[in-house]
Amino acid sequence: MRYRLQIALVFLAPVALLAALFVLGGALGVKAPLLGRSYVIRLALPEAGATFGLPAIEGPQDPARPLLVIDPGHGGHDPGASGATVKEKTLALALARALRDRLLREGGVRVALTRDDDTFLVLEERAEIARRLGADLFLSIHADSAGDKAAVSGASVYTLSARASSATAALFAARENSADTVNGVPLADHNENVNAILVELSQRRTQSRSEEFAGLILREGQGALDFHPQANRSAALVVLKAPDVPSALFEAGFISNPADAGRLASPQGQSRFAEAMARAIRVYFARQAGG
Ligand SMILES: [Zn+2]
Repeated sequence: MRYRLQIALVFLAPVALLAALFVLGGALGVKAPLLGRSYVIRLALPEAGATFGLPAIEGPQDPARPLLVIDPGHGGHDPGASGATVKEKTLALALARALRDRLLREGGVRVALTRDDDTFLVLEERAEIARRLGADLFLSIHADSAGDKAAVSGASVYTLSARASSATAALFAARENSADTVNGVPLADHNENVNAILVELSQRRTQSRSEEFAGLILREGQGALDFHPQANRSAALVVLKAPDVPSALFEAGFISNPADAGRLASPQGQSRFAEAMARAIRVYFARQAGG
């Protein structure tokens, strides 16, 4: 009997102590936390449609001059594809800057970058920046990874499609579009219904101009850039969904391929890219001005 009493006291003593503290705390005006109270932890995530600053337009400050918006993919907490020595977000920014500098040096074209440092932008913001600046052309720059298939190499040009043109393109779209999710939760709302409406709204003229631009990249890049055997692709890419700005995504090569990664990271490789891409952009603008 005494033994049982001792056991009971061992269990009851802490309860009695807590009760005493609770009563004492109440008397002294200190609020004790109530049992079973639930706490909510809130994480601050960037809101979809939240206001963001527009980047500066460089080059001649003449609105009659054509405006190109260059979008270096990824950034900030989102590195994109990662190679052995280099990250996609770093390569994309270097290529974008090389192209901008070349166009500004040659003159006649206005240029803005969606990001000129290591910051993160959600995909909708990128296309929205182009729309708000009244861009005539939008070019998103990326690099791909084929994982451990190091032999896969070469650049590709993507335009928007409602349905991805191949399983590979669908996979690429899934990878690029997932940049806006944190633990699988989308930061901005771009569900399939919204996508379908946006694609529908996209004017045929915008789409055909996008395809014309993609064709010019392939033509002007011939001999200067190393293309993938199937370099002309279309995919359901959120970043290309501005309904009124002709848009293309240049996937500069595979950073999982040592030759591609080395070429894209070198000043010579970046300069060759900038030269060919600047040519394609000038031919495109000349055609638009002429027609
Ligand atoms: Zn990417």
